[in-house]
Amino acid sequence: MRSPLIIDIKGNSLDDGPGIRSVIFFKGCPLSCVWCHNPESRHPLAELSFDLQKCIGCGSCIEKCQVGALSRDNVFFVDRKKCTLCFSCAADCPTGALSRIGQKMTQEEIIEKVLKDKPFFDSSGGGVTFSGGEPTLHMDFLSGLLKTLKEAGIHTLIETCGYFNFDEFKRTILPYTDMIYMDIKLFDPEQHERYCGVDNALILENFIRLHKLSIQGGFEIIPRSPLIPGITDTEENLTAIARFLKSNQVKEIRLLPNNPAWHEKCFSLGISDRFMEDSPLRKWLQPAVMEACQCIFECLNDSYETWN
Ligand code: SF4
Ligand code: SF4
Repeated sequence: MRSPLIIDIKGNSLDDGPGIRSVIFFKGCPLSCVWCHNPESRHPLAELSFDLQKCIGCGSCIEKCQVGALSRDNVFFVDRKKCTLCFSCAADCPTGALSRIGQKMTQEEIIEKVLKDKPFFDSSGGGVTFSGGEPTLHMDFLSGLLKTLKEAGIHTLIETCGYFNFDEFKRTILPYTDMIYMDIKLFDPEQHERYCGVDNALILENFIRLHKLSIQGGFEIIPRSPLIPGITDTEENLTAIARFLKSNQVKEIRLLPNNPAWHEKCFSLGISDRFMEDSPLRKWLQPAVMEACQCIFECLNDSYETWN
């Protein structure tokens, strides 16, 4: 079984499903959304991150690097073309300004860590959420974790982009999953390909198939849409998504406001592209815009429930 890299296991989360949860972040994603809030999770391999705010300028890393990849003259500090990802600089950085993103963990190590929080899950109706990146890139590994948690009586939730093989998901993941959050970002296939890197046909098909199965019971599926200024929060896009959901008798959606903090994360990873300088993407979503977006769904269907 191919083991994924784990970015982090975050405890005491109140934002990633019901109750108090532990969230396991997988590294690697088949999509490449230009607004990705977790850009450190896109690439499946380990990466070096540099946080300027934490750096005290001691210079020990510059001396340590054998290939001359670190320099104060470089605006990103790290020359990614020279860096061989040996991570010796990160190991010795006294403040954690340089750090390795992505660690190998066994299933046993992950389970041991999250089980420590079981009393919080039990008292709050919480559980464990698998996020990323895209956890379904590693279905066998994920299946083993889900099965163990299910046997321990722990609620399980998967946050997914929906871009996966349906039959494999149904066979290995669904039997041990209580809840799914699936993103529907852009309804137009060309727009989806432009901003997310892949066509959305598989995602929409997977959503419909899972929604139909969920009606029989056993698990819940809730669609989510990120509200990205000028890209996904347009009336045209949200109306198309609302119509799609209504035609499939889906009565609930979670709307996720833009979080511009991802720009700083891109800097830490040396990622630079044309969308980073796009000023609308640097803004928080205004409450009035959020209300207008919610209205598009609720006005189309009186019984619609939107939440964020
Ligand atoms: S070792 Fe860490 S704190 Fe010191 S200069 Fe390098 S990045 Fe900055
Ligand atoms: S990871 Fe290794 S090669 Fe890359 S900057 Fe640090 S010390 Fe240099």
